[in-house]
Amino acid sequence: MARTNSNYDKLAAGYLFPEITRRTDLFLENNPDVTLMKLGIGNTTEPLTPSVIRGLHEGVDRLAHVETYTGYTVNYGDVPIRKAISGYYQKLGVTADINEIFVSDGAKPDSGNIQSIFCTDSIVAVQDPAYPVYVDTNVIAGRTGAFIPETRQYERMVYMPCHEENGFFPALPEQKVDLIYICSPNNPTGTVATRSQLEAFIRYAIANKAVIVFDAAYAAFIQDPGLPRSIYEIEDAKKCAIEINSFSKMAGFTGVRLGWTVVPMDLVTENAASGKVNRMWERRMNTFFNGPSNIVQLGGIAALSDQGQRECRQLVDYYMNNARIIRDGLTEIGLKVYGGKNAPYVWLKTPSQMTSWAFFDKLLEETHVVGTPGSGFGPSGEGFFRLSAFGHTEDISKAVRNIKENLRL
Ligand SMILES: *Cc1c(COP(=O)(O)O)cnc(C)c1O
Repeated sequence: MARTNSNYDKLAAGYLFPEITRRTDLFLENNPDVTLMKLGIGNTTEPLTPSVIRGLHEGVDRLAHVETYTGYTVNYGDVPIRKAISGYYQKLGVTADINEIFVSDGAKPDSGNIQSIFCTDSIVAVQDPAYPVYVDTNVIAGRTGAFIPETRQYERMVYMPCHEENGFFPALPEQKVDLIYICSPNNPTGTVATRSQLEAFIRYAIANKAVIVFDAAYAAFIQDPGLPRSIYEIEDAKKCAIEINSFSKMAGFTGVRLGWTVVPMDLVTENAASGKVNRMWERRMNTFFNGPSNIVQLGGIAALSDQGQRECRQLVDYYMNNARIIRDGLTEIGLKVYGGKNAPYVWLKTPSQMTSWAFFDKLLEETHVVGTPGSGFGPSGEGFFRLSAFGHTEDISKAVRNIKENLRL
């Protein structure tokens, strides 16, 4: 008799985006003439750059001729794309050998799948608030107990609160944990970890034989040259950290799909000497994945070329200008805002201690702007609200204007 994975029944936080849709649809039913402005979802809107388009076209053309046709690629990306990613790290002053780089169809799948090479009773620590994938995939894998409605936490999961007092970067866990997820620049708070903050986590991880899963999907948005774009810019990180990154936000590949994971040879765990974790991830890719699209790999190589990177920077600048418009507009009307300086998300404190959902309704009704309630990213997100800078500048400006004119504070 087949039985399903009952861990799925524990998932509670999954209601966030469906609930946004439900409330938005209900509002539209009652107000059919209103055009909503959506600053809720972290999805890119601007076209791919000329270099990337040329790369993708070349990928298609190669498939048209018997001399250049290719079928399956290496299950974790062909050598040229891994060399290009190795070159990306070189520019950051970091060495990542092509044997340490695994190319995939995105950072979300990688950040969800990485837990599968760790033991089921690992204690997992997450930033609170965090990208929901880290929590949910560990719930599904059975590393947590039930969701406790009073605390809005899963049993056995270690939540590392990120709030105004600690600048939205957590203190080290008080207890011994095994797996630590850090996202920097962070989605949803828009905060970037400093070198010394990462140093402290690296020291903790080495002392406790813990592994850090570092999600750098927004690294390209860092403007401040003093902030690390890769955890490997910090000494000894290769002994304890796996880094995940993506072309999605850097190059507008959200629909194209391409990402990568670095598993250093030096990484060790309690029961794995150097090289073992790397071979396990290789094995996992070989067993569960058949390689990223050959066409897309050529688009990725083009995005990482010197010209491609210049174009990607323009794309990033476009969204960062949107972030500035949101920040400035909200600050002008007296709202307290964080993030948006080195990340495409603005994290605002709700006025008058409103709950995140109450502010969602207020913003929707008074200004017709849809955002994302902070509480959907974890209990410490309560009282905060995320606005995304991904969108056409005209739409973002209009939304900010509407907020300035119509939000009753
Ligand atoms: C958008 C995003 C990603 C990117 O995922 P892809 O699957 O590469 O599109 C990864 N991590 C975080 C935190 C994100 O917000």
